[in-house]
Amino acid sequence: MSDAQGTGSGGSLFMLDLEALPQYDHRVFILRHPLVQTKLTLMRDKNTHHREFRNLAHEVATALAWAALRDVRLRERVVETPLAKATGWDLDEKVGLVPILRAGLGLVDGVLSVVPNATVWPVGIYRDEETLQPVTYYEKLPPQMPVSLCLVLDPMLATGGSAAAAIRLVKDRGVQRVKYLGLVGAPEGVTFVREQHPDVEIYLAALDERLTPPPQKPGDPPAGYIVPGLGDAGDRLFGT
Ligand code: URA
Repeated sequence: MSDAQGTGSGGSLFMLDLEALPQYDHRVFILRHPLVQTKLTLMRDKNTHHREFRNLAHEVATALAWAALRDVRLRERVVETPLAKATGWDLDEKVGLVPILRAGLGLVDGVLSVVPNATVWPVGIYRDEETLQPVTYYEKLPPQMPVSLCLVLDPMLATGGSAAAAIRLVKDRGVQRVKYLGLVGAPEGVTFVREQHPDVEIYLAALDERLTPPPQKPGDPPAGYIVPGLGDAGDRLFGT
């Protein structure tokens, strides 16, 4: 870690109000910052219009990016202020963003607002209802991704199947450092991703109670939704 990053992750964790959960080896982080929590509450509210929901997703994604990139590598850079030379810092890593279609798109601009040079490779993954296995239906990842750090983006970490599959795709294309950024997670999804990829850090604004079971009667929500969650993140982002 460089001098620019101060006293180490302990100091940074406090400033960002990041809670590292001990039950997940301190590799799952909840962003407890009060402003993040107020924004997330507005997103949970079913009466929030999709225009506002999208803006809030942007803002929370920005905060998640600050948190997840707190250990990004830097190299020294000298600039001239109007008064004198000052030693500062440049990013010394290429960052890739891998949003999972379609809801992951809602986090892209917020993350890009802090790392505008990042490359974006969306991936499309769905779950086959018969085999229950994730199926990749769209990806244009290069055989060797020319980045050293990848952020996989998806607002809802529900069963974890798509997240784990997207992380696998990225690792198979040569990226060693992968982090997952989402708004809300369920314990089931966090556990699944941790089992499949114990090296991957997970950044969330909330860890919720559970997933919905398979519907028993008409009107029940579909299986695998996060409770209390915020509903279908894609629908809420795009007004569908
Ligand atoms: N996907 C969503 O959009 N919402 C959930 O609660 C779970 C998966």
